[in-house]
Amino acid sequence: MSLYPSAQFLLSAAAAAQFPADNGAEVAIAGRSNAGKSSAINAITARHALARTSKTPGRTRLLNFFQLSPGRRLVDLPGYGFAAGPPAERDDWARLIDALAERDSLRGLVLVVDARRGLLDGDEQLLAWAAGLGRPVHVLLSKSDQLKRAEARTLLARSAAQLQGRGSVQLFSARAGVGIDEARGKIDAWLGTLG
Ligand code: GDP
Repeated sequence: MSLYPSAQFLLSAAAAAQFPADNGAEVAIAGRSNAGKSSAINAITARHALARTSKTPGRTRLLNFFQLSPGRRLVDLPGYGFAAGPPAERDDWARLIDALAERDSLRGLVLVVDARRGLLDGDEQLLAWAAGLGRPVHVLLSKSDQLKRAEARTLLARSAAQLQGRGSVQLFSARAGVGIDEARGKIDAWLGTLG
């Protein structure tokens, strides 16, 4: 059974003017391209095709808004890993997430990190951005099914140390169904229960 039985795609926004009305509560979800973000969204919402899991690189960067229930949204940020991309594209991305940061409804940020890579430079930039906003961060170490149990434990401890109190962190695997309830619990707590 789906935890969010009425979860649905709301809209894609290429500019702040296209964002939905800034009311209710929303949680942003970010990660490097290929980190497993779409799979995480699908697993967390228990909707297998809510977020597309295959994307064409080089397309316009869009923020995708999903409604989990009325007034409660997930915002799928464009995958980064754009360090080699054209500067104009990076600026567009920065403008979009700066506009998102100004929204009263933004409650927190989920950062999806490939467990085989751990936190990288691009993730650090996003952590710095989130810290500047005063919004909480929760890190999903995705594809944890690819690690041995001891490796996963070590990674979890290392990532927690790397975060230095800037966020919480957990192991996650969309494929093996690891950590899905924990991730939902975090998102639900941030979104709260609206009337
Ligand atoms: P996105 O670009 O961050 O949205 O990443 P996707 O969700 O599209 O996943 C990128 C790749 O990682 C795909 O080939 C997925 O099949 C794979 N993947 C995603 N989640 C998992 C997982 O939990 N375990 C494993 N082994 N692979 C995964």
